[in-house]
Amino acid sequence: MISGKKQTIRLFTYAQLIILILFTIVTIFAVYRLSNLGYTLENLANESMPNIAKAASFTNRIQSLSTLTSILTGSTSNPARQLAKQKVDKSIQLVNQSLLGTSDANSYLTRQLATLTQEINELDTLVEQRILQEHMLLKSREKFTYEFSKLFQSINTNIADNKLENKLLDILLLAMQIDQQTRMHALRQIESELAKKLKNAIDGVASSQINTKASLTDIQTHLIGNDGLVTQKIQFLKIVGRTRGRDSFVRNLIANVSSNLDYQNQLTNQSTLQAANKANDSATEYANITVIVGLFSFLLTLGIIYFLYKKIVSRLISLAQQVEMASEHNSTEIHINGNDEISQLAERFSLYLARMKEQESALLNMTLTDPLTAIPNRRAFEAQLKETMAIARRNEWWVSLFLVDIDFFKDYNDHYGHSEGDACLRLVANEIHKIMARNTDFCARFGGEEFVCILPNTNPNGAKLKAEAVRKAIMSLSIPHAKSAIGDTLTVSIGSGSFLFTQHDNWMSDIIFEQTDKALYKAKRNGRNQCDFFAIDE
Ligand code: GH3
Ligand code: MG
Ligand code: MG
Repeated sequence: MISGKKQTIRLFTYAQLIILILFTIVTIFAVYRLSNLGYTLENLANESMPNIAKAASFTNRIQSLSTLTSILTGSTSNPARQLAKQKVDKSIQLVNQSLLGTSDANSYLTRQLATLTQEINELDTLVEQRILQEHMLLKSREKFTYEFSKLFQSINTNIADNKLENKLLDILLLAMQIDQQTRMHALRQIESELAKKLKNAIDGVASSQINTKASLTDIQTHLIGNDGLVTQKIQFLKIVGRTRGRDSFVRNLIANVSSNLDYQNQLTNQSTLQAANKANDSATEYANITVIVGLFSFLLTLGIIYFLYKKIVSRLISLAQQVEMASEHNSTEIHINGNDEISQLAERFSLYLARMKEQESALLNMTLTDPLTAIPNRRAFEAQLKETMAIARRNEWWVSLFLVDIDFFKDYNDHYGHSEGDACLRLVANEIHKIMARNTDFCARFGGEEFVCILPNTNPNGAKLKAEAVRKAIMSLSIPHAKSAIGDTLTVSIGSGSFLFTQHDNWMSDIIFEQTDKALYKAKRNGRNQCDFFAIDE
């Protein structure tokens, strides 16, 4: 029967499953998105951050390389130069080591560093040559100074020759200009002037003064010519120029490498920024999607809960209330709309309550009905009498009570048998019941062969008429009674009591019964088949 109906309980299970699936999906989605975000952040931490740190360390080392190169270029002695060169080499080596194993290895930067190394080596060679040349220049100047002062002293001893002295002072002044002069053209001019002045001085010396002549020739060799001071100074200036050129080239190269590094730094920073922005965008997007999915699930769950409430909970509450009301008010009306287990349960409850009610009334009937005669029994009579007395008291009525007893019934039984006796009892009961036609009248089998009648709102006159009617009706049945001492047919004796009920009366049910029983006793004593009446109105 249930399978034909819409299955609400199954719907309830499906709804719960949907909620479970929804929350599983939301959880999986959130975990997946978060792990993606975690991966992006890990990339950022593992790749971009070290790149930034590496770029910063490159920049520092390249900048220190520039300073070290200046020190190398400015070295004035070989030990100082060697020390500076060692530091430069170490610095380049460190930069190269930093590049090893990175994506920058063999790149443009690596090639630039190789060129830089080569250029620095050449710069070092030039600095070495410059130091050597400077040394040689110093030596030549010393030799010249020595020769010159020796000659000058020898001339001093020879007081007469003032002319030569003047010429020598002239040459000395010119030779002193070599030190200060830094332009080659000017040096060439000084050289040609010196050549002239020296030639003039040599020519002016008498051939007898061989020593002076020889000294002047020596001085000439020290000042001009291929090994002369002027040529050496020119050589020195050339090397200084080349060193400066190389130095500025190396510096440019370093600046170039540095700017390349800056550019790479910027690229790295940019890519890091992009990665960070991307991670941020992803995080925002994930958060938004998660919020939307969560919100959707929440609304759907609310919808499902509302649906379950309407479809199941509220109807079960209504069912419980209706069952409670029905059992309180002794009704069987239970109805729940729909066509499912709950409405079916309501129907079943309704049927069950109806059946209960039927069984209850059947049981009640059984307890209040005499099984032999099918009229009310003594218990029903007692309840009816109490109820009638209460109503009569409110309305100030007369209530009449009959006690009807079959005459010589023991003899009847003994003579006709017990089952005939039973049949006779049924006939008499039926007849009495028939005569108590008024709806409000009541009759019951009190026990044995005794019957009792209650006549509400019936005064003594009415009671007399009705009692006589009962007695005559039984006689009219003409049930043969061979053992009756007063006739051939079955008769009854009736005791009738009429009681006026008021608001202030003291009637008790057992008292009025006792009184009526006394009347019956009187009727029996007076010869049976008669009625005895009495009425009390106080
Ligand atoms: P009285 O005229 O003084 O009333 O005499 P009685 O014989 O009718 O009265 P008694 O009280 O001596 O006897 C009543 C008899 O009713 C006794 C019993 O045999 C009979 N009786 C009582 N109940 C039943 C019953 O249910 N069925 C049958 N068949 N007989 C019953
Ligand atoms: Mg009796
Ligand atoms: Mg009797």
